[in-house]
Amino acid sequence: MNVPRAPLRSLDEALAELLAQAQALPGIEVVSTFEADGRVLAENLVSELHVPPQDNSSMDGYALRCADASLVGAMLRVTQRIPAGHHGQPLGPGEAARIFTGAPVPPGADAIVMQEDCEAFEDGARVRVNHVPRPGQWIRRAGEDVTRGAVVLARGQRLSPAALGLAAGIGRARLSVARRPRVALFSTGDELVMPGDVPPQAMPPGAIYNSNRFFLRSLLQRLSCEVTDCGIVPDRREATLAALREAAQGHDLVLTSGGVSVGEEDHIKPSVQQLGELDLWQISMKPGKPFAYGKLYRNGPQDACHFAGLPGNPVSSYVTFVLLVRPFLLRLQGAKNVAPVRMALPAHFELPRGDKRREFLRVRRNAAGGLDLFSNQSSGVLTSAVWGDGLVDNPAGGTIFHGDTVQFLAFAELTA
Ligand code: AMP
Ligand code: MG
Repeated sequence: MNVPRAPLRSLDEALAELLAQAQALPGIEVVSTFEADGRVLAENLVSELHVPPQDNSSMDGYALRCADASLVGAMLRVTQRIPAGHHGQPLGPGEAARIFTGAPVPPGADAIVMQEDCEAFEDGARVRVNHVPRPGQWIRRAGEDVTRGAVVLARGQRLSPAALGLAAGIGRARLSVARRPRVALFSTGDELVMPGDVPPQAMPPGAIYNSNRFFLRSLLQRLSCEVTDCGIVPDRREATLAALREAAQGHDLVLTSGGVSVGEEDHIKPSVQQLGELDLWQISMKPGKPFAYGKLYRNGPQDACHFAGLPGNPVSSYVTFVLLVRPFLLRLQGAKNVAPVRMALPAHFELPRGDKRREFLRVRRNAAGGLDLFSNQSSGVLTSAVWGDGLVDNPAGGTIFHGDTVQFLAFAELTA
């Protein structure tokens, strides 16, 4: 059979085309700040107060006026005690306030001396200051973290645990976030068997366990998606059409793995074409050459569901997901920054012959600050992605010698 070759695209072109299709989904959700980890903010968070709200002490010690302690050994009267959560009275000349970390600095005081540099006398009624303070010392200034009126977190920012703390720190118990993308996931392949259904010793010849379903589902969940797992679809046209038609209802994205090559058993391509439109891309990358993007019509082109088809080989599926589908799903949620951080790191391995395609090598950071290469870079060897903690982005034809600087992308970020 003479199958027309799909156009070869660069990864950058494919990503740009994909992101151009990723209009933010309509609809926002208001969630508890407790529940907002990993969600994309749908509002600008403006602070109505300074954080910290007042000047406060960053030490347990004494608040005083520097003018009263310009010589080592100054004796001051301790006239008040200010624990955290309480506020003091104005401090007069010659006076000190016993103060604790987080307590507001009393009016009139201009420095804190830590208790280790002081000696208390007369049951704490007087203090000798054994250290000449510098004005402002150990005082955390009002607004040094956040000033009133500032945008502390912007719409389109993905919320990290630290961001949740910051939102709480300006008094926000609830946040507006993008709604969760609804994703239908299915695997194709008659060879696939679910773990648990058949024990390893009883696997029929030619069968393999379905790995992709497990990592794709968890990658989707980490991206805040609501996943409908449609299971395994057999390699038959009618079954594929029925599964896609059904999945297009009520979902924002239908994601499949396998069956996107142009073999006779690959039914995804003609089925998507029949139900909508399809761009089958041969992306010039390794692993992961076949990748499909398209639309499944519900009621014509104006009411369509996104479709993405990943290759079946587990590493190809994994790598194309993290490099293409992840940014797409973040954009559907309105995320601004979807490009992973690229780190320049030294290779502690050699690749004397670069592949003719841009290659994503599974590597691991070592204690010497360099990168080691997994020994088997085959697209079926999922061990490489478990052993590795990231990818080296090696340009087409690029050779690598020990000590060369290469571009590293961390799985910690790509799978977050
Ligand atoms: P395909 O893209 O359907 O031609 O599949 C390419 C290779 O990936 C074949 O060796 C399949 O057996 C394998 N494969 C496809 N889907 C899965 C899956 N869900 N889990 C593990 N391997 C798979
Ligand atoms: Mg297949």
